[in-house]
Amino acid sequence: MAQTATTRQSSGTQDEALVRAVNVMKSFHGNEVLKGIDLTVRRGEVVCLLGPSGSGKTTFLRCINQLESIDGGRIWVDGELMGFRQDDRGQLHHLTDKQIAAQRREIGMVFQRFNLFPHKTALENVIEAPTQVKGVRKGVARARAQDLLASVGLADKSAAYPGALSGGQQQRVAIARALAMDPKLMLFDEPTSALDPELVGEVLRVMRELARTGMTMIVVTHEMEFAREVADHVVFMDAGVVCEEGPPEQVIAHPRNERTRAFLRRMR
Ligand code: ADP
Repeated sequence: MAQTATTRQSSGTQDEALVRAVNVMKSFHGNEVLKGIDLTVRRGEVVCLLGPSGSGKTTFLRCINQLESIDGGRIWVDGELMGFRQDDRGQLHHLTDKQIAAQRREIGMVFQRFNLFPHKTALENVIEAPTQVKGVRKGVARARAQDLLASVGLADKSAAYPGALSGGQQQRVAIARALAMDPKLMLFDEPTSALDPELVGEVLRVMRELARTGMTMIVVTHEMEFAREVADHVVFMDAGVVCEEGPPEQVIAHPRNERTRAFLRRMR
């Protein structure tokens, strides 16, 4: 993609956008999945992405942290253009894998499936990235991991292997693991949809707590109650476009768009 644009936006103030996505496009084999998505997330905000299956929510999340490269548009996180650098003539060039890895380190992601290392304990899972990627000393990483496991209600499970934990507990370890890298931003991709219903609440509770600490979060979810209570901003996507967005009391309680209304009727 050779286009001109500024790669760095003004840095700094507290109320500045942490994430700014402009006209993001993505296709897979000619199938246009994102057709020009715009999104702004301010620091400390929780944004919930809602919408029917196949509308492009996961793809958009994966584009934000560069698990997918975008075909058009721009994404800035904390003022830094994701995936590209600008040369002296203002042309944009794809970053190297190593540079992209460095950008991704700043963003935590929690998946539908927890993807813990099965042969490592909860604590070992949490210290893996800080020690291996950031070079944090083991003793320091262990102390921090204990604190993080305590913060997700698993102080007594640090020595347990994933196989001995419930799905909800594994997902809470996955959240602690993402937080161990001190991310600027947390992305959640349907974090409770693979869980038995009775385990959903404990994970949402941890996410609520995290939101309260001021963490900036983008959450793909079908949990309307959570979105209504915790989100500052709700974005409804359908067929690769944003149909409607605004505060939850508007989008969820009083949707204006017919597609949003139809979706919410089906969710009830
Ligand atoms: P949602 O999260 O809203 O359910 P997704 O982003 O998962 O939607 O998927 C949107 C569309 O993109 C779907 O049609 C899906 O099949 C397609 N898609 C997603 N990832 C890929 C991929 N890696 N290769 C091909 N098609 C993909």
